[in-house]
Amino acid sequence: VASLQKDVLATELKDEKGFKGHSMLAPFTAGWQTTDLHPLVIDKSEGSYVYDINGKKYLDSLAGLWCNPLGNILHPSLIKSPKSSSIWETNLEITEPSAVVDNIQVRRPDTASLMSYGGNEPRLVAAATAQLNKLPFYHSFWNRTTKPTLDLAKEVQEMFTATEIEKVFFTNSGSDANDTQVKLVWYYNNALGRPNKKKFIARAKSYHGSTLISASLSGLPPLHQQFDLPAPFVLHTDCPHYWRYHLPGETEEEFSTRLANNLENLILKEGPETVAAFIAEPVMGAGGVIPPPATYFEKIQAVVRKYDILFIADEVICGFGRLGTMFGCDKYNIKPDLVSVAKALSSGYMPIGAVLVSPEVSDVIHSQSNKLGNFSHGFTYSGHPVSCAVALEALKIYKERNILEQVNSISPRFQDGLKAFSSSPIIGEIRGTGLILGTEFTDNKSPNDPFPSEWGIGAYFGAQCEKIGMLVRVAGDNILMSPPFIISPDEVDELISKYGKALKATEERVQELKSQ
Ligand code: PMP
Repeated sequence: VASLQKDVLATELKDEKGFKGHSMLAPFTAGWQTTDLHPLVIDKSEGSYVYDINGKKYLDSLAGLWCNPLGNILHPSLIKSPKSSSIWETNLEITEPSAVVDNIQVRRPDTASLMSYGGNEPRLVAAATAQLNKLPFYHSFWNRTTKPTLDLAKEVQEMFTATEIEKVFFTNSGSDANDTQVKLVWYYNNALGRPNKKKFIARAKSYHGSTLISASLSGLPPLHQQFDLPAPFVLHTDCPHYWRYHLPGETEEEFSTRLANNLENLILKEGPETVAAFIAEPVMGAGGVIPPPATYFEKIQAVVRKYDILFIADEVICGFGRLGTMFGCDKYNIKPDLVSVAKALSSGYMPIGAVLVSPEVSDVIHSQSNKLGNFSHGFTYSGHPVSCAVALEALKIYKERNILEQVNSISPRFQDGLKAFSSSPIIGEIRGTGLILGTEFTDNKSPNDPFPSEWGIGAYFGAQCEKIGMLVRVAGDNILMSPPFIISPDEVDELISKYGKALKATEERVQELKSQ
């Protein structure tokens, strides 16, 4: 399959300059790609766009890796007019308060300083610069820490309102946030004298990261097959994808009931005294953008609670506004015990993740300290001051610019515009909510009729998008999109138009392949 997909990409994105490979062992990239194809080298960003080193401009429909919602909000066409509630009025007047970071007053950006900041959000650039000048690094071990680290912990704690949060643990990414979850849960059950309550249940098609444990939690076979995973304490239950997995005549509610029953049966089979936690993304991301079916989380949570199993919400993609609510938990009425966040926490400008801990868990950890001494877990860069300063500024911007209102006002244009392509004969389903959307290519509009994988239909669509200046995520025959929150109506229209062009070319390609 890989080599046939290689033909698709090699033909579509042919490198004419005789590229001879590069030195990076590239993440989630096939080896042949790094030798046979020139990598797409991104050089700069501006608003919803990125540019490659040859100056070619691409609409970034995935906001980096689902993580860069602010892009460059101060592109002249995006600056908010004082009289308008929308940020995309054309008006050069800037209403933002200027950034004050640790007593360093950062000027309101004028056109000249905008240029000197490059194409990106000046307040985030300023927050990073000020912190780099003042204190580029200090750690948070042994009760030493930095002010932005403490301030961010407080801010994140207060922003998450679906359940009470007592403590925030900082990580470098989403993967090590989820690894940390496993350690916290084990610590908790050890402390409670339940050494056998250690198993985790995740879901098929979930994505929780790529370290040993977060890859184990993930329910995507390639993450397991290549690396002797999953770890034996991880179990997987059903993927809640109604279109693909419902039985004939089964309603969404009935489907959710069946999945909750299956989860309960799995817990009973394993022994509830051995099952510690259940982890779920509110909307599954990398597995194909799969919003939950009606009543799903209500029923799943009831089962989890019944057997004294902790609920972990992986908000790495959904957190901080992507679904039109500040967190996915708010949208689906999830009351988690533990939460993982990353990505939009710093608008992707600096690496940072966090684990949000409920009083129930943190009190147990706290109460153990007399007996066990230090909580023996942490990273050199847990709570890195520059990442925290940038994240604090990003959260401030989300609030001041009412990012939820922006997401909710632009998302119908994005969702409805793309879902209008659902009738295409090569599309099985288009699904999404807020500013996240997945397209699944299948034949006969059926989940059971995939195109032969060697046809590389998803890869072909992705290559067409790239050629006409748009970046999408290709996952097999799924196309995933999560544009920046700052995307303007015109840019959404451009995105839809480019999608339409790539779709037409892909439909013709399918016709051609079928007739061979
Ligand atoms: N959880 C989810 C839901 C994710 O989508 C991701 C990354 N895409 C992760 C965890 C892992 O995050 P990271 O890549 O920052 O380690």
